[in-house]
Amino acid sequence: MATLYIVATPIGNLEDISMRALRILGEVDFILCEDTRVTRKLLTHYNVKTPTISYHQHSNEKKQAHILNLLRNGKNLALVSDAGTPGISDPGGKLVQAVIEKFGGDYETHGNASVRVESVPGPSAVTAALSISGIPTDKFLFMGFLPHKKGRQTFVKRIADSIYPVVVYESKHRIIKFLEELKDLNKEINKKNQDIDRIVETRRGVSKDIKKLLERKRTPLTSVVVCRELSKMHETVYRGSLDHITEQIKSNQDDQKGEFVVIIGK
Ligand code: SAM
Repeated sequence: MATLYIVATPIGNLEDISMRALRILGEVDFILCEDTRVTRKLLTHYNVKTPTISYHQHSNEKKQAHILNLLRNGKNLALVSDAGTPGISDPGGKLVQAVIEKFGGDYETHGNASVRVESVPGPSAVTAALSISGIPTDKFLFMGFLPHKKGRQTFVKRIADSIYPVVVYESKHRIIKFLEELKDLNKEINKKNQDIDRIVETRRGVSKDIKKLLERKRTPLTSVVVCRELSKMHETVYRGSLDHITEQIKSNQDDQKGEFVVIIGK
C-alpha cells in the first residue's frame, strides 16, 4: 500500500522539524514541494537526498494525474509546503482531496490500488502565534488570508462579529492597511456602544427594551497581538493598544518586513 505523508516543515528555524518528519522525507520515493528551491534548503541542511517533484497551486491536471499514478504504482510520497503545515492556507489540501476521492484515503482498496494519507504533524504559524499570544485560546476562529479587495470589508466585519479570538495571516504589503481597518472598526464599535449606553440610560424601567439593546451591544476589539517572523532572527511580537502597535510598525521600515500573523482578541 502506498502512503501520501503530509509533512509539516519549519516556519523559519530549520531546527523546528521532527525526527519522524526527517526520517520520512529520507525514506519516501519522492517529495512533492510547493517550491523545490525553498525545500532544497531544508533537504540540503539535513542531507536528505530524496528526489523532489514540484506541486503547487498552479499545477495542472496532468501533474496531478502523474502524482496519482505514482501512488497507484505503490510509490510513497511526502507533500511539503514552503513552510509549516501543508493545507493550512496553502495548496496542500487540493491533493489530499484528490487522493481521497480517487483512493479513499485510508485502508480501503480501490481496484488493485490502496493509498493511505498520513499526517506528520509539526509547526504552523497559526498555532505558534496563538501559543505566545496570551489571549485565551481554548476556542478560536482561523480566517487565513484576507481578500485583497473584493469582500475585504465584509471579512473585517466578520472578525468584529466573532465571539472567539480571530487569527489571520497578513502580508507585509497590507499589514498597516489591515491595522488601520481594525482601528476604524474599533471606533465604529465604540461609537455604537456609546449610543446604546445613552439609550439604555434614558430608558430606565423598560426592561425588555434594555435587554434587547444590551444583547446588541458589541464588545470592541480589545487585545490585538501581531506576530512577525516567528522563530526567525527578527521575531517580534507587538502587544498593546491598536494605536500603539500601528504607530510602532508604521514608524519603522524594518518592522514592516517579513511574515505576519495577527490575533484579534475579544
Ligand atoms: N502552511 C503555513 C502554516 O502552516 O502556517 C502557512 C502558509 S501561508 C501561504 C504563509 C503565511 O503564513 C504568511 O504570509 C504569514 O502570514 C504566515 N507565516 C508563515 N510563517 C510565518 C512566520 N515565521 N512568522 C509569522 N507568520 C508566518
